[in-house]
Amino acid sequence: MTHTRLNPIYTGMPVTVFEHMSGLARSLGAINLGQGFPDTPPPPTLTAAAIRAMAERSQQYPPSAGLPELREAVAGYYARTQGLALAREQVIVTSGATEAIAAAILAVVGNGDEVLLFAPAYDAYAPLVRRAGGVPVFVPLNPPDWLYDEGAIRAAITPRTRAMIVNDPLNPTGSVASSDELALLARICAEHDLIAICDEVWEAVRFDGRPHRSLLAEPGMAARAIKIGSAGKIFGATGWKVGWMAADAALAGVLAKAHQFLTFTTPPMLQWAAAEGLADPSITAALHEDWSASRSVLIEGLAHAGFAVLESSATWFACIDLAASGVVLDDRTFSERAVREAGVASIPLSALWEGDDGPNTIVRLCHCKPPAMLEDAVVRLSHWRGGL
Ligand code: GLN
Repeated sequence: MTHTRLNPIYTGMPVTVFEHMSGLARSLGAINLGQGFPDTPPPPTLTAAAIRAMAERSQQYPPSAGLPELREAVAGYYARTQGLALAREQVIVTSGATEAIAAAILAVVGNGDEVLLFAPAYDAYAPLVRRAGGVPVFVPLNPPDWLYDEGAIRAAITPRTRAMIVNDPLNPTGSVASSDELALLARICAEHDLIAICDEVWEAVRFDGRPHRSLLAEPGMAARAIKIGSAGKIFGATGWKVGWMAADAALAGVLAKAHQFLTFTTPPMLQWAAAEGLADPSITAALHEDWSASRSVLIEGLAHAGFAVLESSATWFACIDLAASGVVLDDRTFSERAVREAGVASIPLSALWEGDDGPNTIVRLCHCKPPAMLEDAVVRLSHWRGGL
């Protein structure tokens, strides 16, 4: 039966590239370096905190905006790690950062509003903007360093532009905006009265030795930035789906309204555990050390095997340029064939780029995996490439 009365935004949409690749990896028994998630369990103290909370504390609805303990812990974490002065009331807990992105878009975007997205763009942004009645306007970032282009941004702005979504550090490239770029984005937001929806879920996954700096901290941004974070990324527990939005108090109040009619609230045992984890810097430090080591294994292994690895400084991902690696396949063909023929799943960058004008020879590989698995993946990919 054809469902002609369903929303065409969804009927015409393929399953996400992450779901597609993880499904193939599962059914083929391939090594999954596609969708980003660690293979090792989260820190045992965190799991113990969640189990303890489940046994000893309430399992009924927590307050819609989040447990006060977690809202306080998020504010404390940002004060300690990023020097931000946020009150507990400015933090709204969500069921994962994707829900935060949805709530922020629903709260900000109305019919016909244009929203700047920077390509490559995480796959959820454009459909959510469209579902909110808005129009996504893509501004390409310039490879290989994925720099923000002032001329291109200004050329894309019209009187209907209402917001921009800024993903920093950037998934899929692992690049980080410079302080000049953050200042530029803040200037443009102030000049054109734009809201910045700041997807900063990779803020704790940086390998350049620098502390994360939020667009929210730029001059003039306090009242126009919505900073989104994720316990799943901070603790390597992606299935927890605990995220949050932080914004000035008036904005946070409106965001809370959008959130209350999406998921309303988030499982309390995971909120308690996330609050405990955020208060303990040793947990994040140990995770970071592990991720840093496995990252080196993949990047060095790929480079040694003759793959051209693009520069990156954050996220769980490394990108390879196929053309520069001597592989004459486009990225989608590479990913579809590599999972079947080499037994390694990856993400083609063009899946995160609407239209055909973006780069189509770059694939993303996830490195937060056991070193032996990464070494095996590199061997498989280089053998397979030899036979192409
Ligand atoms: N953020 C994950 C990634 O980039 C994907 C999450 C998802 O599958 N929705 O790999």
